[in-house]
Amino acid sequence: MRQITIAIDGFSSTGKSTVAKQIAKELKYIYIDSGAMYRAVTLFAMNNGYINSSEFNKKELIQNLGNIHLSFRLNEKKDLAEIYLNKVNVENEIRGLEVSKLVSKVAEVSEVRRMLVKQQQEYGKEKGVVMDGRDIGTVVFPEAELKFFMTASAEKRATRRFDELISRGDKVNFEEILKNVEYRDLIDSTREDSPLVKADDAIEIDNSDLSLEEQFEKIYKLVKKKIKN
Ligand code: C5P
Repeated sequence: MRQITIAIDGFSSTGKSTVAKQIAKELKYIYIDSGAMYRAVTLFAMNNGYINSSEFNKKELIQNLGNIHLSFRLNEKKDLAEIYLNKVNVENEIRGLEVSKLVSKVAEVSEVRRMLVKQQQEYGKEKGVVMDGRDIGTVVFPEAELKFFMTASAEKRATRRFDELISRGDKVNFEEILKNVEYRDLIDSTREDSPLVKADDAIEIDNSDLSLEEQFEKIYKLVKKKIKN
C-alpha cells in the first residue's frame, strides 16, 4: 500500500488529535501534533518573560528563536510521542489554560510560523505522516493526498476541553474554557499569516454529533480508499 500524507485541520478542540493518533496507529504512520509545537514556543516565551496576559515582546522572542529546540520522543508506556522543549518534557505543561490563553498570539508571529513549518515539512518529507493543526493542508503540505477539516459547535468543543482539563485535575470553569475556544478560533481564522481556512480539496467533517468511534470509522474508511488507489 502506498504511503501518503494526511492533513487534519480545524477549529480548537474538535478532536483532531484524537482521530489523527488513531489513524497513525492503525497505519503505522508518524503522528505530529503541530499545535504542541506552537504551545511549546509559547511556554518558552512565558518562561523567559517575553509574554504574559498584558504584554508581548515579540522582538525579543524573534531574536531568541534560535535558542528553541523542539523534538518529539516516544513515551513507551503510553505508546505516544511527547514534546520536548530544550530536552525537557513539556507535554503536560503545554496543555494548561495559561498556555492556551497566549498561544494564538504567539502563532500570529510569521517568524515563529516559518521556523515551525520548516520543521514540520522535514518530519513529513518521507510521507507516511498524519499531522494535525490549522494550516497543514493549506501551507505545510498543500500537496497532501488527503485533507480533512474538522468542525463542531463551540459548546461541544468547550465541553470536551472542560472534561479533559478536569480529568487532569486542573481547576477551570466552563465559561472560561468556552471563551478561550471562541477567542482562539477568532484569532486563528483572522490572522494575516496562514489563517485557519478550509483547503478547497479538504473533506469537512462536523463531529458535533459523532462518537469517537463513529468519527474514526468515517475517516478511516476514506483513508483506506485513498491508500488503495
Ligand atoms: O491544536 P492546538 O489547539 O493545541 O493548537 C494550539 C494553538 O496553536 C492554536 O489555537 C493556534 O493558535 C496554533 N496553531 C497554529 N497552527 C497550527 C497548529 C496550531 O497556528 N498548525
